Amino acid sequence: MTDITLAPNGFAALGLAPELLAAVADLGFTQPTPVQQQAIGLAMQQPEGEGAAAFNDLMVSSQTGSGKTAAFLLPVLHTLVAQLAQKAQQAQQDAKGKRRNPMSPRHFKAAEPGALILCPTRELAQQVAHDAIDLVKHCRGLRIANVVGGMPYQMQIAKLQNANLVVATPGRLLDLQRSGQIKLEGVQFLVVDEADRMLDLGFADDLAEVHKLTAARHQTMMFSATIAPRIQQLAMRVMRNPRRVEIDSPQEKHANITQKLFWADSHDHKRKLLDHWLRDASIGQAIVFASTKIECDGLAEDLQQAGFAAVSLHGDLSQGLRNRRLMALRNGQIQFLVATDVAARGIDVPAITHVFNYGLPMKSEDYTHRIGRTGRAGRDGLAVTFAEFRDRRKIGDIEFFTKQRLNAEVVPGLEPRQRPVAPRREGFGGGGKPGRGFGPGHGARPERSGFAKPRFGAKR
Ligand code: AMP
Repeated sequence: MTDITLAPNGFAALGLAPELLAAVADLGFTQPTPVQQQAIGLAMQQPEGEGAAAFNDLMVSSQTGSGKTAAFLLPVLHTLVAQLAQKAQQAQQDAKGKRRNPMSPRHFKAAEPGALILCPTRELAQQVAHDAIDLVKHCRGLRIANVVGGMPYQMQIAKLQNANLVVATPGRLLDLQRSGQIKLEGVQFLVVDEADRMLDLGFADDLAEVHKLTAARHQTMMFSATIAPRIQQLAMRVMRNPRRVEIDSPQEKHANITQKLFWADSHDHKRKLLDHWLRDASIGQAIVFASTKIECDGLAEDLQQAGFAAVSLHGDLSQGLRNRRLMALRNGQIQFLVATDVAARGIDVPAITHVFNYGLPMKSEDYTHRIGRTGRAGRDGLAVTFAEFRDRRKIGDIEFFTKQRLNAEVVPGLEPRQRPVAPRREGFGGGGKPGRGFGPGHGARPERSGFAKPRFGAKR
């Protein structure tokens, strides 16, 4: 064990290993976030009648930005640290009286991690691995490896050797398992991060396979932004009596993120609004979201030509290029990242002050993930959405999903010429009364927010 002097820290009461408390203090975390407070305690508890090594299974609903990564990493690392210390002690005893043969050959051994974290995207997996490396800074001999598609196999295999905790995307992980580079039988802890996204991206079969390959595990934790019925069904298949943690944190409503909406008459008008906003002096760094990869590339190029330090990020770029661009964002070399939903998922850069929704998300829940890229680590953020009038149904869906009204504002000199359209639905709980409408040419002033809203359950 390392000799570490501890500052008083709210994490100490959770009973975590001193090495982890030191790392948490280094990161400047003084108090556990609500999801950490609840999940860490439960995850370290052992249920009765489940065998000496079993820990509670957990189903946690929490948003990115809530501190969920440390909520699942810390309890897992805590047990791995204790096991390593025990092993080291045992090895010391065994070594007494015996002499090591310095000539004994080193054989290739497949990696046999004790913990496996599954993430839906490469970026998220890299972010989680990065967080794990920060947390094991004081843990001697505890190794973290990252397994994601798009990276050279050989380098990944070399780094896998002796890894205790592996953070992976499912496809590449199963490739390496099938080719005998990694064995999953020894996995004691399985974490599925962003389970909802995992299912969206078609990983259900891969999850089932990992579930079978790690059948002897002692704990399963699933984290998801929403616990929709399909997530509950998955939870029932892969967990035993999971404890549920549902956090109604201010972050969930993104209380620290101001959300604004600007209506545009046309695509050109939308572009003008974006140009106006990108010159806002309060922007540190920003993500501009596009709907498609083509839009993403085109817009990044336009912005570069207009003199902005902007680059694109989407799934068609090589992993190496994506990493370099993310690094440039982290280092502050670029100010604007033009990205698609999948590529930007999980990006955690505290200097991001603004998120711009230039192309609207395909699904309402992606809106929540997008705006969560700003307002990180307790800071404030601003999320600005541009929508053409033909997108009003999508805006209604987003408001219904987030249960929050988007305030429509205008940029002086760039006001839309069109007017709101009726009917609009009152409230978000369903069953609202349609209000009086305003048609084009009625001379009514634009309302502060909202246009025609879809009825609950209406066909989209
Ligand atoms: P996550 O939800 O895991 O993506 O974490 C969001 C951000 O919060 C990351 O930048 C973390 O480094 C930061 N964070 C996590 N836990 C804490 C904490 N207890 N105190 C302060 N910041 C934290």
